[in-house]
Amino acid sequence: MARPLVADIDLDALRHNYTLARGLASGSRALAVIKANAYGHGAVACALALEALPPGVRPPAFAVACLEEAEVLRDAGVRSPVVLLEGIFEAKELDRVEALGLWLAVHSEWQVQALLAYRPQRPIPVWLKIDSGMHRLGFPPERAADVWARLGAAPDRVADRLLMSHFATADAVDPSDCRKQLDCMRHLAAALGAPVCLANSPATLAWPQAHGDWVRPGVMLYGSDPLACPNEASRRLEPVMTLRSEIIALRELAPGEPVGYGGRWHAPRPSRIAVVACGYGDGYDRHAADGTPILIAGRRAALAGKVSMDMLTVDVTDIPEADIGSEAVLWGRSRYGAVLSVDEVARHCDTISYTLLTGILPRVPRRYV
Ligand code: PLP
Repeated sequence: MARPLVADIDLDALRHNYTLARGLASGSRALAVIKANAYGHGAVACALALEALPPGVRPPAFAVACLEEAEVLRDAGVRSPVVLLEGIFEAKELDRVEALGLWLAVHSEWQVQALLAYRPQRPIPVWLKIDSGMHRLGFPPERAADVWARLGAAPDRVADRLLMSHFATADAVDPSDCRKQLDCMRHLAAALGAPVCLANSPATLAWPQAHGDWVRPGVMLYGSDPLACPNEASRRLEPVMTLRSEIIALRELAPGEPVGYGGRWHAPRPSRIAVVACGYGDGYDRHAADGTPILIAGRRAALAGKVSMDMLTVDVTDIPEADIGSEAVLWGRSRYGAVLSVDEVARHCDTISYTLLTGILPRVPRRYV
């Protein structure tokens, strides 16, 4: 029998979450962010599943980080527009950008110069990235008018232009920093008569004022709720990935006996410990604390002891039906109906869902359901 660990990817749930995002931002165009292999879910399968939605309700574009990610999509037959969110990393990439019909974000002067020095057969759509307050990538707002005009003066090289910026705190309870970024971008868009793309998942879910001409949701498409305070919309998200395994061994422990590396967890009572085939060698977070929830045969149980490379240990003392071969869901939807959100697991690992989802390694087969 094969090792039982698998990542089940529910493409109906992906389509449901995309449709939810699209409905929330009904006055905007909603592209789908599928960078980092669609946050670990498989970019090709996710793009093809979303492209299979009927015309008019499918994503008008996809977004990836870099050329290599776009090439994988084109090789697999994905035909929709694809935006490179970080643009090019060297000027010679422009040949491939043009050949693959990609859209380009530009965030730095050297990228603008490379683009303006390039002679494409057909002009390339360009998204001008502005640093409205995150201080990561983008032109400072006071340079926007100049760069916008230079791009506009080259219609043989630059097709449709759009302003984009990224929110640093759209998930926070206090929206004041985010509001400053929004005000900055609204001001620029009005001054330049430019369309804008601003909203990531939290802003798509909770901040209609920020929807603009395009929204750019990522993590919510995969069913993770990025809001510090979930709202009615975010509660309707459905998990896309279920990380599913099985119990491969059981142990009976006397009170006080330790489990795993370093003996971090000690049995507080006569205890039954299940060994589950999933470890940090699969991408499960080694920082998971004792008590991290795991669904055993659909019932909540708790991690007991440090995560090992190929397995982890769970206290199943209160789940008498737990046996070799019982289902163990690390996050996602159990066959018994219960759901364990990746966001809850992330809190126990002192991280965010993004790192857990993107961290699942190729050793774990993706199974599309
Ligand atoms: N836009 C940009 C530029 C990003 O870097 C990201 C994510 O990292 C997104 C959109 C999507 O963000 P989220 O996954 O929070 O929706």
